[in-house]
Amino acid sequence: MRTIIIMNIKYEREIRYAELLTPLKGYELERQIVEHRFDPLTHKRTVITTGRFHLIKRLFESDPNEIQNIVEMTKSNCPFCPERLESMTPKFPSNLFKEGVIKLGDATLFPSLFSHMDYNAIVVLGKEHYLQLREIAPNKIHSAFQVGQTFLRKLYDLNRKKIYASFIVNYFPLSGSTIIHPHMQVIASDMSFQLLDELLSNSFVYYSRVKSNYWADLIKEEESSERFVGKVDEVTWFTPFAPYNTYEVWGVHEKVSNLLEISDQGLKGFSQGLSKVLSFYQEEGLSCFNILLYSGPLGESSDRYFRLGIRIIGRSGYRKPFVSDLWGLQSVMNEGEAYDTPENTALKLRKYFQ
Ligand SMILES: [Zn+2]
Repeated sequence: MRTIIIMNIKYEREIRYAELLTPLKGYELERQIVEHRFDPLTHKRTVITTGRFHLIKRLFESDPNEIQNIVEMTKSNCPFCPERLESMTPKFPSNLFKEGVIKLGDATLFPSLFSHMDYNAIVVLGKEHYLQLREIAPNKIHSAFQVGQTFLRKLYDLNRKKIYASFIVNYFPLSGSTIIHPHMQVIASDMSFQLLDELLSNSFVYYSRVKSNYWADLIKEEESSERFVGKVDEVTWFTPFAPYNTYEVWGVHEKVSNLLEISDQGLKGFSQGLSKVLSFYQEEGLSCFNILLYSGPLGESSDRYFRLGIRIIGRSGYRKPFVSDLWGLQSVMNEGEAYDTPENTALKLRKYFQ
């Protein structure tokens, strides 16, 4: 195994080769690279299999006619469009929030009709039933982050106990979203979530071992790596060394560790960086993506060992035959796979940050 040790962060990778006689080149011998990488913090495994990207890239590209069809088809009975928003969406009970919903600018927040967590709110980004990727951020997503933060603040003031919270965006059907109208999920509970648990506990172990903040060390390392993309306000953007998915991009806040402490300028830093990533996705032909903005526990300082962060992944494009980019390797075997190297993704993405 080739291990590169820089400071306290270990970047581990291992190369294997698959040999076959390929009909694509008249049954010549082909040696395909299968690169295993390990996340430096969690040691989660992923494979990078670039041999197929020139073929599979088409599956990430969308069909504009199919997009138009589903947008038109879903518009007349969409519960998030302004004419139905008041009458078709739930409200909070008055003992929780007496207003029932929270409005801020174009954004409206209300409880999810079917909750995935103890607290699960939906934020509708605005009146438009469909937005192209480059239209979603920064303004719309910034308002959604603001209203989400307002909700968490109210929740914390009400309970005064530790809360784990995240913002999630599922955009377009192949991301797992059932509603086309742009929206964001806010989930919160006094129980942690699987990924957040892994990040928090491993960050704490790192801190206990080397007396340093893993995320501050990671920013330092990534700034001078081929995966560095850019800085927006106090958020550093890069592609992860061991991406779990194709088109995966991360942003890490330099100073703040939770969603109650981040300033409005900090939320802008995340939304402005996101707008650059989504513009890149649009140029690549993507239509479906997931965003996760995760946080250290609200009501407890994790500044010593943690930082607020965002992860964005590109998903299969909306086109026939609607093949999901997540197959059994990721969904049941729990092994990541990316069809392009993070270094190459960063190379293409960097110009959007200049
Ligand atoms: Zn709508």
